[in-house]
Amino acid sequence: METDLLFADDDQPPPPEDGAEPWTVLIADDDPEVHAVTRLALGGLRYKGRRLSLLSALSAGEASAILRCTPNVAIILLDVVMETDDAGLRLVRTIREELSNHAIRIILRTGQPGQAPEEDVVLAYDINDYKSKAELTAKKLFTSVVAALRAYADIVALETNRRGLQQIIQSTDRLFELRCMQQFAAGVLTQLSAFLRVTPDAILCAQRGAAGRPLPDGAFYVLAGAGCYAEAAGRTASPAEAVKPGAMIPPALAGRITDAFRSRRSHYGANETTLFIRVPDGHEVAAWIHTDRPLDDVDRALVEVFASKIAISFANVSLYERLREANETLEARVAERTRALEAANAKLERLATVDPLTAVWNRRHFLDLAAAELGRAHRHGRRLSVFLLDLDNFKAVNDGHGHAAGDEALRTAVVRAREALRTSDQIARFGGEEFVALLPETDLAGACIVAERVRAAIAGSPVMTDGWSIPITASLGVAEWSPAEPTIELTLRRADAALYEAKLAGRDRVCVADKPDATARR
Ligand code: GH3
Ligand code: MG
Ligand code: MG
Repeated sequence: METDLLFADDDQPPPPEDGAEPWTVLIADDDPEVHAVTRLALGGLRYKGRRLSLLSALSAGEASAILRCTPNVAIILLDVVMETDDAGLRLVRTIREELSNHAIRIILRTGQPGQAPEEDVVLAYDINDYKSKAELTAKKLFTSVVAALRAYADIVALETNRRGLQQIIQSTDRLFELRCMQQFAAGVLTQLSAFLRVTPDAILCAQRGAAGRPLPDGAFYVLAGAGCYAEAAGRTASPAEAVKPGAMIPPALAGRITDAFRSRRSHYGANETTLFIRVPDGHEVAAWIHTDRPLDDVDRALVEVFASKIAISFANVSLYERLREANETLEARVAERTRALEAANAKLERLATVDPLTAVWNRRHFLDLAAAELGRAHRHGRRLSVFLLDLDNFKAVNDGHGHAAGDEALRTAVVRAREALRTSDQIARFGGEEFVALLPETDLAGACIVAERVRAAIAGSPVMTDGWSIPITASLGVAEWSPAEPTIELTLRRADAALYEAKLAGRDRVCVADKPDATARR
């Protein structure tokens, strides 16, 4: 070492008092004296409010080992000749190629410039400065180191920015996939904490309640909570509520959120950040996150980019939620309409087939049933009979006791007739006080028995209604279908003739139809 150099022995610089992380500088030199003078020269240096932390390596091997396990070394002051003549130059290769460390600034210092000529070295090796130890006075060293720190800080900021933006792109892509507001809001907090590299104690709030309900002044709705605020999700809070016992959001935090909504501005505190986010669809949301440090310019710029990106996703998610709600409402309405329509159809179907007064089939449906039954009888060679039933002197019932009593008598007659029939028989109102029965698999003799049972049931006792005792009887005409009859109407015509006979013969009786003749068949 030359005597006029400003290097001198001294202790290591004191650790930084303010807690800011120091710049790490590695001195790699096989001459212990160089370490001492370097420490002396740089000991008091502060750059951007941060001191230096100086590490020492007495060989290239030792320096390489230190670099492998020490993150964020800003500068290496590297001697060329150490364990070999080119140990320093080889270490440059290791740093850039093997360790892929392109951020660290390499200041090459050589005591024997002849050994490694400046032009050759600067061209061949990825170094940032080349100094001869002879020219490296304390002042020059100071200047070199500060210039290198400036470059290193820029590189680190660029790299942080690049990584942050990459993370934002990736995280917002993931957020874009979320369709449910709750999941989306939780995702926003997770991603925000991840790229700020902080523990996720955070909340995300909206100025409107669930389903867009307006909230009282100063109140807000917690869309999602993370870390120690996880339980607050889905609740409404306000500075006034926050002072009450058991509140999940502390008053200071509630105040920050309310301030963000009032001022429509983000706020960057010493260890907390409140982001105000304006969503394109007119909504406003605020995110609060605990940070273990004040956010620097790079962090803030990234946070703002993140906020603008998620604002768009927010609008998408709320649009999607609204669409889904509208869809659900629509589906519910369609289902309700379908039920109403089905009920109306069933009612119509009933009205179209059932007689409203007596609740037995009507004439039209009876003819359908009878046609089907006739088809079966025809195909399988089965017997089939019918009878017509007409209440006797019914006009007198209406005349004597009123129409309502007449209706009641009609209903009673039908109930009695049904009870006297078998389950396989069908009865229908043919019109007025006239009824018709279809008796499948029944020959004429069997039909007469059934008809007689029905007649007896109807005449069995008077109908009691409105204090009246109304005796009722019916006349019946029975006919068995003949395979010679292509339609049931022909059989019914014969039954009607038999009924007419019963009336003529004095009523309250069963008469049997004649066999079909040639006239009927036509
Ligand atoms: P017949 O023994 O010859 O059949 O005498 P009838 O009085 O029963 O015959 P007519 O055809 O003269 O009268 C039928 C009566 O039945 C007249 C009508 O008002 C009554 N009637 C028909 N449908 C209804 C109804 O739905 N309710 C009531 N209360 N009466 C009805
Ligand atoms: Mg009658
Ligand atoms: Mg009649």
